[in-house]
Amino acid sequence: MQIPFHKSYITEDEITAVTDTLRSGWITMGKKTREFENSFSEYLGVKNSVSFNSGTAALHLALKVLNIKEGDEVMLPAMTFAATSEVITYFNAKPVFIDVDKNTHLMDVNKIEEKITNKTRAIIPVHYAGQPCDMEEVLDIAKRKDLFIVDDAAHSLPSWYKKKIIGSISHITCFSFYATKTITAGEGGMAVTQNDDWAERMRLLRLHGLSKDAWKRYSDRGNWEYDVVEPGYKYNTTDMNSALGIEQLKKVEDMWKKREKIAAKYNDAFKINDIIIPYSVKNDRVSSWHLYPIKLMLEALSIDRNHFIDELQQRGISTSVHFIPLYRFSCYRNVDNSIDKFPGCEWVFDRIISLPIFPAMTDDEINYVIENVIDIAGKNKR
Ligand SMILES: *Cc1c(COP(=O)(O)O)cnc(C)c1O
Repeated sequence: MQIPFHKSYITEDEITAVTDTLRSGWITMGKKTREFENSFSEYLGVKNSVSFNSGTAALHLALKVLNIKEGDEVMLPAMTFAATSEVITYFNAKPVFIDVDKNTHLMDVNKIEEKITNKTRAIIPVHYAGQPCDMEEVLDIAKRKDLFIVDDAAHSLPSWYKKKIIGSISHITCFSFYATKTITAGEGGMAVTQNDDWAERMRLLRLHGLSKDAWKRYSDRGNWEYDVVEPGYKYNTTDMNSALGIEQLKKVEDMWKKREKIAAKYNDAFKINDIIIPYSVKNDRVSSWHLYPIKLMLEALSIDRNHFIDELQQRGISTSVHFIPLYRFSCYRNVDNSIDKFPGCEWVFDRIISLPIFPAMTDDEINYVIENVIDIAGKNKR
């Protein structure tokens, strides 16, 4: 059996929606994009949704409208995707990495305050794998220290922290619609906020700083004239991508329930195994189950994580590792971060493997993954 790490859940609905847009005569940002933004706001119960051509672009302009500047410091977990950190460097600001908790792989909120300086401006919590970060603690620190919170919610559509949906808690929350994420638009991102001024400025900046969206410019009500209010970026999405996003958003909870079922099966299968540590989510929160990262009890094994991944691959099971801690990358060696300062990340990184978890996975595929993980563990006991 061959099981990919991920397979997008694309049906005739998506194909029809995209081809209809192609036939409509308007393919770049326009009506479909507005519709996607409106549906997104409605789903999350937020005031403003601003779409982008990537989640990274959304994160960049979120920090921009909060006036992050050269020399500022922005905190983020050390175990996240490169994008969370790179957007901070766009401003010549400094990413300050925080160690993660061994069980949840979430930013260890007890380690934030010791790293706050008079240059700290913002915190970027990442809801790793879909599990919401400890937001009560983050909100408390941000309030006391007067910091902004920009959520990297690339994994967490939909996730809930103490019954509040992620997207409704922080100053600005950024989602991603990259091909492997919980819903996809091919590529794309969305920044959501209750603040109208920030939303308006993100809308301007995502399209060169033009005072009017292109579709307004060329509609009957518009004209050829526009102003450039502030030099901006080319970060808009297209109606083709948005048409895809609209159809995917309609299925967001259906796909989530399918992943949740797979996660429950994995949890059940691995909780009785003394070598595989299942992924645990705290009971005051609900995960989107974007990822399912197991950890290996290396102490009980004669092989390491990489070898375990090779064994799975030989049996046709593709997996991944989320994530290589940021301080390990050569581009961050000059940031004063070293391996010994991140015992949580190092411990987790040595042990994690993300198993396939995608909506269309069949019971046979799920069972095949479970059987082989347990078999490899059993055959390689120390
Ligand atoms: C995917 C991802 C992003 C970036 O999203 P893009 O849409 O690919 O730009 C940011 N942060 C995390 C944690 C991600 O997994």
